[in-house]
Amino acid sequence: MFNNLSDKLDKALHVLKGHGSITEVNVAETLKEVRRALLDADVNFKIAKEFTTRVKTKALGQNVLTTLQPGQLMVKIVKDELTELMGGDAAELNLTGTPTVILMSGLQGSGKTTFSGKLANYLKNKKTKNPLLVACDVYRPAAIDQLHIVGEQLNIEVFSDKGNNDPVAIAQAGIAHAKANGHNVVIIDTAGRLAVDEAMMTEISNIHKAIEPQETLFVVDSMTGQDAVNTAKAFNDVLNFDGVILTKLDGDTRGGAAISIKSVVNKPIKFIGTGEKMEAIDVFYPARMADRILGMGDVVSLVERAQDQFDEDEARNLQKKIAKNQFGFDDFLKQIQQIKKMGNMKDLVGMIPGAGKMMKDIDIDDDAFKHIEAIIHSMTIEERTSPSVINASRKKRIGKGSGTSVTQVNQLLKQFEQMSKMMKMMQGGGGKRMMQAMKN
Ligand code: GDP
Repeated sequence: MFNNLSDKLDKALHVLKGHGSITEVNVAETLKEVRRALLDADVNFKIAKEFTTRVKTKALGQNVLTTLQPGQLMVKIVKDELTELMGGDAAELNLTGTPTVILMSGLQGSGKTTFSGKLANYLKNKKTKNPLLVACDVYRPAAIDQLHIVGEQLNIEVFSDKGNNDPVAIAQAGIAHAKANGHNVVIIDTAGRLAVDEAMMTEISNIHKAIEPQETLFVVDSMTGQDAVNTAKAFNDVLNFDGVILTKLDGDTRGGAAISIKSVVNKPIKFIGTGEKMEAIDVFYPARMADRILGMGDVVSLVERAQDQFDEDEARNLQKKIAKNQFGFDDFLKQIQQIKKMGNMKDLVGMIPGAGKMMKDIDIDDDAFKHIEAIIHSMTIEERTSPSVINASRKKRIGKGSGTSVTQVNQLLKQFEQMSKMMKMMQGGGGKRMMQAMKN
């Protein structure tokens, strides 16, 4: 996420690191680079200029502070200002109303349908919510089918009326259906066009007026940069929406939309989409995003994602197995599958402080576990539970079956053995012993 921007800001802020104090000259030099980095990331010119002016005023005003190094001070000021620019505090959904009605708006392809599913799933996982998805795209039958597929996948009901070409009527019928069937949240997916046009705006505005949603969300593809900001403005003029959803932040986005959108429409970014999978949704926290942009990682979000994916009963079971020396390859496979559910690997690595920068040139992809999974799948049940039985001829067979080599099988066996040892030590509270083992 935002690798290029992070890199450039890091370089810009580095200028100050060697200096003993903040001066007009070195601040100007640094901020010129910061501004260039923001413009390259497709941040609107005016916003970038105002941003650097604010940072400059703050930096020069705090010149008297001697407790921090100038470089650190500048990083802090830039971080605070970036946080502020992106909205300050995280903004929550308004979940009042019985049912709560959430209207999705945005261009075609922005990720509305995908996000409708993600949000429904996110709310369903909150246990107290029983969402209904409503398909209001009357122009593309495929869009209705897509929502049904998403609903089936998530085990969430989808309301649609394929013969009906009045989206207002469908939305109203959907809400009535929700009321009659005990759904306390209704998420209405609407039709988008490839570009802003009057007919689309009239249609979404009519739906909006008729159903008076608690939340109107505008979904936008972050890869579209400044266009994202212009589209947001057009939609906001008509809908006065409540929040923005930025999708595709996992892609090669430059980051301009994330940074500019709040100050242009004065509406908070509420969620981000970070992948095609239904789990790839995150609440947008401006401060955490600022940390990530500045290459400081985002450990809090990483831990939260882990908590969302890891089942406590499973974890207890696992603990018991480790204690009894029964941790096998099947358990290992389960762990890998859980990690994969947490999101794409590049994104996860980017959340570890410093790691994103260190590993930016290393190609980490979601196939990273492919070989490991293939090797484990080629093992028999006995081999998975008691890896010690895997002798030379078995290694050969496993290598062949998984399309890997005996060396790769050996590597995995060795890693597995080390990991099992490490886990056992962690269980015994032997932190010191573990450190020792890692040194060896
Ligand atoms: P809609 O036309 O606005 O309903 O857009 P869709 O939900 O159909 O999404 C368009 C495409 O973008 C689909 O291929 C989705 O899989 C993809 N997509 C949606 N959200 C994300 C995201 O956060 N990350 C990535 N990488 N792809 C996404």
